[in-house]
Amino acid sequence: MSEADIPLVVAGLRHSFAQGLTRPEAWRRAQLEGLRRMLAEHAPDFEAALLADLGKSGAEAQLTEIGFLEAEIDHTLSRLGKWMRPRRLAAPLVVQPATARIVAEPLGVALVIAPWNYPLMLLLSPLIGALASGNAAVVKPSELAPATSRAIALHLPDYVDRRAVAVVEGGVAETTALLEQRFDHIFYTGSGRVGRIVAKAAAEHLTPVTLELGGKSPAYVDETANLAEVAKRIVWAKFLNAGQTCVAPDYVLGRREVLGRLAPRIADAIAELYGTAIEGNSDYGRIVNGAQFDRLVSYLGDGEVVTGGGHDRAARYFEPTVLAGVDRESAVMRDEIFGPILPLVEAADLDDAIDFVTGREKPLAAYVFSESAEVRSRWERETSSGALTFNAPVLHLSVLGLPFGGVGGSGYGSYHGERSFRTFSHEKAVLSKPLQPDTLAPTIMPPFTPAKERLI
Ligand code: NAD
Repeated sequence: MSEADIPLVVAGLRHSFAQGLTRPEAWRRAQLEGLRRMLAEHAPDFEAALLADLGKSGAEAQLTEIGFLEAEIDHTLSRLGKWMRPRRLAAPLVVQPATARIVAEPLGVALVIAPWNYPLMLLLSPLIGALASGNAAVVKPSELAPATSRAIALHLPDYVDRRAVAVVEGGVAETTALLEQRFDHIFYTGSGRVGRIVAKAAAEHLTPVTLELGGKSPAYVDETANLAEVAKRIVWAKFLNAGQTCVAPDYVLGRREVLGRLAPRIADAIAELYGTAIEGNSDYGRIVNGAQFDRLVSYLGDGEVVTGGGHDRAARYFEPTVLAGVDRESAVMRDEIFGPILPLVEAADLDDAIDFVTGREKPLAAYVFSESAEVRSRWERETSSGALTFNAPVLHLSVLGLPFGGVGGSGYGSYHGERSFRTFSHEKAVLSKPLQPDTLAPTIMPPFTPAKERLI
């Protein structure tokens, strides 16, 4: 599809929406069931595409992309009827008799723009919400994961209603052309830089936007935690998808003595999860492209490499790497790392660690490893982040009832499960009151007598 076709495509979707095609519950269910069938029937294709784009293993593709989507579809199908049902509220005495309801209605035509790091999941998960809510939608996969983009463009139209769902492949030019169109919701996942471009374009049409951005998610560790277990969980969460995960622990924060004891345990955990010949281990992913690779290499000078550091540009292989003695103002601590480099950053004490985190952009997630109830409670009360977990990095995504999204610099709006349904719906206030009996003239309409004034 060329850029010139985009206005026509969007107009076609708008026409389908205006005809009421997407509203019936049966239509919504058929789309979700279609998505599920596509994932089951073409799992090998999607796995191969994710392997080509990111060196993602089949098991990881199932865990974090295909299986995640299947679980979300099942979760949505089993609750959709309940979510769609109008919710009744009590009307205040002066308005009674009356019925008040909140009615969820679809917004219209949604646009979903996805990044390259979980290129299937981050495109289709918002689409599940858009379709469940009865919208038409355009999905724009990332051009930086070209094999996955192609697989989606090839298969998706065979499993959903083409009159209401379109795939537009491409990069900046195509996305810019899309953003000139009027949409009823734009759901963007990616960097803050492009998030600002999207939000500005959306403002021209007063289109509501969800921005799922990134940031530096801290992992705080103190001496009360079992460091061997902590190391294993941090290593898993950090080196999943070779560190290219928006909610990966970006860096570890702790007292010098704790970090000194944690560092060798992190090295042990890397060996336990990925072995010692990691380059030949298919469980470990690859860096998406040369530009990202070069950016990561540039961080290696920002600290002392205590584990890893090996890299091979031709193979886009970057060894799980731990940096110690990192300066708080260095580039690796200014940028979101988005790769397999884990800086260990010293904090004098808990106050210093909290000040460090609250003095920066609000992260997408914060991970706290401490057995102290007081320490946990202080992180919960005194810091702000999209999510906060205790001993469970990244795992909050698996609880579909939890809203997933950022705050401040990590974005706004949220999704997953019911939150996706609400994001792509307008919650319309509906109030209905009979004309008889007339309860208004004797109570809230002028002339105001002393008796009425007492009532108001
Ligand atoms: P990106 O912003 O470069 O690209 C994302 C999308 O925007 C792509 O589809 C791309 O084609 C489009 N795009 C790029 N430049 C554009 C422009 N000038 N105008 C219009 N559209 C444009 O992001 P990325 O590099 O693919 O993703 C990395 C970032 O995404 C990281 O910051 C990461 O933390 C964040 N992220 C967030 C989440 C989340 O759920 N919050 C998930 C994954 C990634």
